[in-house]
Amino acid sequence: MSVSEYGLATPEMIARYEPVIGLEAHVQLATATKIFCGCPTSFGAPPNTNVCPVCLGLPGALPALNREAVELAITASLALNCQVRAQSRFARKNYFYPDLPKGYQISMYEAPLAEHGFLDIVVDGASRRIGITRVHMEDDAGKSIHEGFRDSARYSYVDLNRCGTPLIEIVSEPDMRSSDEAYCYLTELKQNLQFIEVSTCDMEKGRLRCDANVSVRPRGTEKFGTRAEVKNVNSFRFLKEALDYEIARQVALIEAGGQVVQETRLYTPETGETASMRSKEHAHDYRYFPEPDLLPLRISREWLGAIEAAMPELPARKRERFTREFGLREYDAEVLTAARAISDYYETAAATSGDPKTAANWVMGDLMGLLKAEGKEMAESPVSARSLGELVALIARGEISGKLAKEVFAKMASSGEGPAAIIEREGLKQISDAGALEGMIAEVIARNPKQVEQYKGGKATVLNFLVGQAMKATRGQANVATVTELLKRKLE
Ligand code: ADP
Ligand code: MG
Ligand code: ZN
Repeated sequence: MSVSEYGLATPEMIARYEPVIGLEAHVQLATATKIFCGCPTSFGAPPNTNVCPVCLGLPGALPALNREAVELAITASLALNCQVRAQSRFARKNYFYPDLPKGYQISMYEAPLAEHGFLDIVVDGASRRIGITRVHMEDDAGKSIHEGFRDSARYSYVDLNRCGTPLIEIVSEPDMRSSDEAYCYLTELKQNLQFIEVSTCDMEKGRLRCDANVSVRPRGTEKFGTRAEVKNVNSFRFLKEALDYEIARQVALIEAGGQVVQETRLYTPETGETASMRSKEHAHDYRYFPEPDLLPLRISREWLGAIEAAMPELPARKRERFTREFGLREYDAEVLTAARAISDYYETAAATSGDPKTAANWVMGDLMGLLKAEGKEMAESPVSARSLGELVALIARGEISGKLAKEVFAKMASSGEGPAAIIEREGLKQISDAGALEGMIAEVIARNPKQVEQYKGGKATVLNFLVGQAMKATRGQANVATVTELLKRKLE
């Protein structure tokens, strides 16, 4: 039944209900080859070229499990605080579809790779823990490509290149209570998976796909309502829109005396609506059974330990450390851990500079500004992290003024050179030596008799003017503190 049959729920109606949301995320693992054969996983190859008897499911072809895929799946499971089973088992999930030549998907059912995890998210300043039910491995299907109506005939094609691409499915507990929480959860999930380089997670390329399960219940009650599963929410914005629509639809339905039925619904971005696709299939419809062509997957303590030891520090831990160790503000720590490339850059720059706080300001200000202006990613930065760190170190040691450093930075960006070479060549070094500055100071005093008179007459602010003149005379190279000191002394 569509919303229009009932009229959309009013905000007052919606406020009386609590949404309950659980997400299923499918993530393409960043391996070079497929999960059960050696075909490449590269995106955009001509249709049906990255295929072989195994991923086409030809009779007699046998799957061989990709070790790297398992390691990435375990890495993801550990990042999601899951317990990895010592033994898991692949299972056949049988269904018929044109993009599935085997006639079944190899997935995991009764013994998934990992279970009982969680992910912490922060929504409106409050921390929430979202349970992760399970992480399991599976192979992807191909793609059906539909062409519009032509002479009233419709053409459909299948591209099987994606068949056998390794996926993990991450199933959350029904722990989210608003579309904002679901949005935050998916954001945090994506950030973590990118950080540990398990997947690039580009949603446009289908490397992160999400199905949203949602139900509503009267506020204050315990029992979950009947859920609908919404497919095809292929962007963060669509996820939020689809959930908000679906929540309103279910509330309107219940308020009108109707009942939500368990079904799979499809979200259409153009209309912002969800529509019934099929009544929910049940596990028994898939006739799951253990995959006879693959041995149980055994993960030894040693293997698990080695993978755990090789894991990078996760974003949440990094944020905490940046504030504690470097004294960064919460917000700055967040910006600097938004992606692996950013935090790697920052940490190298900070370590080189010996002044992490100033380094943070340079990375977030000048460097990110430059990248934005040039439309570049951190990985393509024309200024290396080490060079930026060296520049900050020169400022910290008083060898160059902050103002000149901006000029040097611009030259570093255009030439790719390090700061020392530029400062040397252009003679931009800060002059802090009193002896070297005395002659120039005497000249400034001699050239500005009127101001000197005023200063001596008690107008202390004129000193700033004289300092400015001295800085100008040295093209900004003089150390301001030294100049001020010298001028004061000379004028007494
Ligand atoms: P299925 O294969 O039927 O989709 P899964 O176990 O793969 O089942 O996923 C079920 C998802 O639905 C999980 O994310 C779970 O948290 C969520 N879920 C279960 N019950 C409800 C409910 N009453 N309301 C909202 N979400 C629910
Ligand atoms: Mg499902
Ligand atoms: Zn293949």
